[in-house]
Amino acid sequence: MFIVGAGLAGLSAAVSLANEGRAVTVYEAGVRAGGRCRSYFDARLDRLIDNGNHLLLSGNRSAVRYLADTGADDALVGPASACFPFLDVRTGRRWRVRPNAGRVPWWILRGARRVPDTRARDYLSTLKFALAGPDRTVTDCIGDRGALFERFWEPLAVAALNTPARSGAAALLWPVLRETFARGEAACRPRIARLGLSQAFVDPALELLGRRGAKVWLGRRLRGIEFANRRATRLELGTEAIALESGDILVLAVPPSAAAGLVPSLIVPEESNTIVNAHFRLAESVGLPADLPFLGLVGGTAQWLFTRGDVASITISAADALAGEPAGEIARKTWRDVATALHLDPVALPAYRVVKERRATFAQTPGEVRRRPGTRTAFANLYLAGDWIDTGLPATIEGAIRSGHLAARAIAGR
Ligand SMILES: Cc1cc2nc3c(=O)[nH]c(=O)nc-3n(C[C@H](O)[C@H](O)[C@H](O)COP(=O)(O)OP(=O)(O)OC[C@H]3O[C@@H](n4cnc5c(N)ncnc54)[C@H](O)[C@@H]3O)c2cc1C
Repeated sequence: MFIVGAGLAGLSAAVSLANEGRAVTVYEAGVRAGGRCRSYFDARLDRLIDNGNHLLLSGNRSAVRYLADTGADDALVGPASACFPFLDVRTGRRWRVRPNAGRVPWWILRGARRVPDTRARDYLSTLKFALAGPDRTVTDCIGDRGALFERFWEPLAVAALNTPARSGAAALLWPVLRETFARGEAACRPRIARLGLSQAFVDPALELLGRRGAKVWLGRRLRGIEFANRRATRLELGTEAIALESGDILVLAVPPSAAAGLVPSLIVPEESNTIVNAHFRLAESVGLPADLPFLGLVGGTAQWLFTRGDVASITISAADALAGEPAGEIARKTWRDVATALHLDPVALPAYRVVKERRATFAQTPGEVRRRPGTRTAFANLYLAGDWIDTGLPATIEGAIRSGHLAARAIAGR
């Protein structure tokens, strides 16, 4: 069993298959595993940071299963009950969205639990996502006006789809809502990595694979695949070539552009969107109100603020235009939002690191979503995994891990 790509999609396929007793070999081009979801030591900040802040929800069942499978059940932290805190940096107004337990959403009837200046009936618009056809965008479904849009739907949709609401595919939001908010507060508790993304999602998986006797080769890029009789027959890995025997199976868990270069006639999403993160080293540890690990920001440049000890980090999704600006300018702009949120001096810019992930995810527009291929391919022993595969979910950790599980299930069903 050969798996190429050790991002979360490849790792989740590898973990599932190794746990079923299969002999697994993983090849990863990078010097570290984790792909777009990783931590590293930043010398300028003298701290371990994540390439980008990653938010999950307790109802992300594939991620929860993966963490359990790798013995990392305690790797995520978050509030004991669902709560989404927001701040409008223009006015200083703060609010919290607090869904209730159970499937009947009575929280929308309580002014203190819903978005300020909204009415209970505004929330009926949620059902429009359930009925959204494949060509509809988020704003086609719910418009682009009003307090509920500005203070809830737009931040959520842009974060989930990494695509502006006016072009983001509405049909991808309903599965997320169905698996989280629609199941009540226990399924939509926000979760972040306690120590770091690698400590939660990568290191425990590599340890488990080691215990199961799997081989993980880093710094080994797959350069070509030979095909014959509708099968993958040979892997070209630069210095080495591997002939695939009749029972050998290949899971390709690389980004879409890499997959398209390796598999003939494969149709994949071609456009991608940027996510920008800025990390600030503060003079001392700062917590957010009510010990929540994050804060939604409306009306500024930054969209989400996270704190871990004395590091404050902000995230901006669908940030292609902003990414063209110099790092110093991005740091200055977003620091103003951080300073407002944490009551710090907006002029005293601390040490910072700006990370621009230009291909953070594929652009999740209706047109690009249509280009997502399935797990199976035209070749009998070749399967695909990755957050860009047609899982029905947006390109997120949950989508990436589910794609790996789907590949493993398809292989088990052969
Ligand atoms: C800044 C940022 C913020 C994000 N925020 C969130 C969030 O808040 N919540 C959330 O759920 N998701 C978030 N995501 C999305 C999430 O990180 C991705 O969906 C997920 O990590 C994708 O995993 P993957 O395995 O599909 O792809 P990748 O992580 O890209 O893995 C593919 C792997 O294949 C390797 N590879 C490529 N070509 C070859 C080759 N030829 N041979 C061998 N190996 C190869 C690559 O090196 C890489 O390791 C964010 C992403 C970014 C970048």
